[in-house]
Amino acid sequence: MPLPNGVTNQFDAPLRDRLVALRRDLHRHPELSFKEQRTAGQLEAALTELKPKSMKRIASTGIVARIPGREPDAPVVAVRGDIDALPVQEATGLEYASQTAGVMHACGHDVHATWAIGAAHLLTRNPAQGDVLVVLQPAEEIGEGAAAILQSGALDGVRAIFGGHVDRRFEVGQVVAQEGPLAASADTFHIVLHGTGAHGARPHESRDPVVGLGALIGALQTVVSRRVNPAAPAVVTIGKVHAGTAPNIIPDTAELRGTMRATDPDTRRTLREEVKAIAETVAAAYGLRAEANMHTHGSPPIVNPPQATAWARAAAEAVVGVENVVPMPGLNMGGEDFAFYMERIPGCFLRIGAREPGGKVIPAHAPYFYAAEESIFVGAAVLAEAARRASASLG
Ligand SMILES: [Zn+2]
Ligand SMILES: [Zn+2]
Repeated sequence: MPLPNGVTNQFDAPLRDRLVALRRDLHRHPELSFKEQRTAGQLEAALTELKPKSMKRIASTGIVARIPGREPDAPVVAVRGDIDALPVQEATGLEYASQTAGVMHACGHDVHATWAIGAAHLLTRNPAQGDVLVVLQPAEEIGEGAAAILQSGALDGVRAIFGGHVDRRFEVGQVVAQEGPLAASADTFHIVLHGTGAHGARPHESRDPVVGLGALIGALQTVVSRRVNPAAPAVVTIGKVHAGTAPNIIPDTAELRGTMRATDPDTRRTLREEVKAIAETVAAAYGLRAEANMHTHGSPPIVNPPQATAWARAAAEAVVGVENVVPMPGLNMGGEDFAFYMERIPGCFLRIGAREPGGKVIPAHAPYFYAAEESIFVGAAVLAEAARRASASLG
């Protein structure tokens, strides 16, 4: 499908070329969470040219630039693009593939950073009513960047915030802007079962944590199936288990690590309480002691609220056309740290189509993932327009 006119008519050839060049440069030089020094330098240079009202480095490698609105005292809104890469060896074969071994923009944050710069251009040319903060956020992949930006105070007083993610399940030009749950909370746990080791031939002299671990892995499956309301989405996944050193030694300890996902606060609490309770009671039944470390300060769920979603949806419809604003095929239980902003500021998180016509669906974080180049323009135009609409409505 060709890019909708509502997108193409906002970008002249020089701006298109510059955004494409910026994206390719960022893609070639990916940097891990909180190490985005070069990236931040490139983005700062791109923003400086626009003569923002102010620009600050925050949260070490983050940037907030203030693009002036038409009225200096009107409410302020924000658009956010994340900028970090992943520890993945790139296998796309792209001409502008990563030149850093073992590091890759496998989640499309090169495009998110670039569309934030694109939105800054569009908002400079055609300002919102109030000022718009363009937020370039580090460290999304480790779930810490958004919290660090908030802690800096740079977004205090912001009345609405918009962001999005590239998604190859959708063609370039398609946008998801829908109310309700869009991403899950992401908390983790680490459980250590403490027993007593012994010779493998004399199990009666041990308190065997390996057998306890086996029982615990099975019992934890009942958290979602027996404790959570079936109408509420929830996941408990054990992704890592470890015990022992040799076939004939019963070890002292055995451990597992996992992740918990939910889309509402009650279910999120149920998961952490039940995982811990089951670990402790199963351990007791096997004569073991459970040390349950629950890391429950992960990102909250994203639930797009009605008003901010209405602004974003109207913006998407204006830019790509009503027929290209499409529903999510199903809930994604992935996490996204944009949720931290939405605990404090009303906002909307979008999915921006990134599959070229005839292209394949490729999951993010895969070594052959990339976002089609033209998704830059869709993201930039929709985010800028969402900011204008929110700003006009709040003012
Ligand atoms: Zn990611
Ligand atoms: Zn991502």
